[in-house]
Amino acid sequence: MDKITQLHNLINQSQNIVFLTGAGVSTPSGITDFETIYSQRFMGFETIDIMTSGFLDEYPDVFWKFIKKYFSQSVEPNSCHKYISLLQQNKNVTVITQNIDNLHQKAGTKNVIELHGTFQKWHCSSCHQNYNFKEVLENDSLLCPFDYGIIRPNAVFYNEEISRLTIYNAQRSVENADTLIVAGTSLQTELPVYLIKKFVGKNLVVINRNHVKLDTTINLEINDDIKTVFDKLTFLNESKTENIIEFK
Ligand SMILES: [Zn+2]
Repeated sequence: MDKITQLHNLINQSQNIVFLTGAGVSTPSGITDFETIYSQRFMGFETIDIMTSGFLDEYPDVFWKFIKKYFSQSVEPNSCHKYISLLQQNKNVTVITQNIDNLHQKAGTKNVIELHGTFQKWHCSSCHQNYNFKEVLENDSLLCPFDYGIIRPNAVFYNEEISRLTIYNAQRSVENADTLIVAGTSLQTELPVYLIKKFVGKNLVVINRNHVKLDTTINLEINDDIKTVFDKLTFLNESKTENIIEFK
């Protein structure tokens, strides 16, 4: 039996499934991952320096242009987001994501914990007026039209800490899961690794193009393209439905 079919069977036998997703699940939707962005310079600045609250305060205009260049394209969920969303019909599904692109929610997934917040919602750091991303892009600067305060995303910057409540919620979901599927993350940051260590369920699955080093025992590792894996899972799911109809 090939590994994707194994995964399909394993998901069928699970009830509480947590997906821990990273940039790799967004790239098939056309989103540039941060690793690529950080390897480039923007308007004379190191891009890694731009994604900090201090930079936003000092150069809101550069930050705004940066956001427009890398994050303003309209993107749609891919087979991974859609598959996870469909699973909710029969399973308890929680998604813990490192992504800020809202694609899991756009695919219809209800229970999403965004470790790094989101770029979909913004607020004025002065008067706390809320803005959605569309309004921010339509504005001609990152200055609030009411009081000229700086509008910032409801996201966690590199120099900022993830809230304890978010970590607590993520940890609780992982602790209650019988299956944890880590997808599209090379686990370069501490928090996902910490969360994986809290897993006490049956099946730890890792799906990533490259092998991921982990101290914990991985029950099933699939080193393949995210889209390939989830296209096939979707296909297996659909063929299963056809069989049921045939037997009726
Ligand atoms: Zn304001």
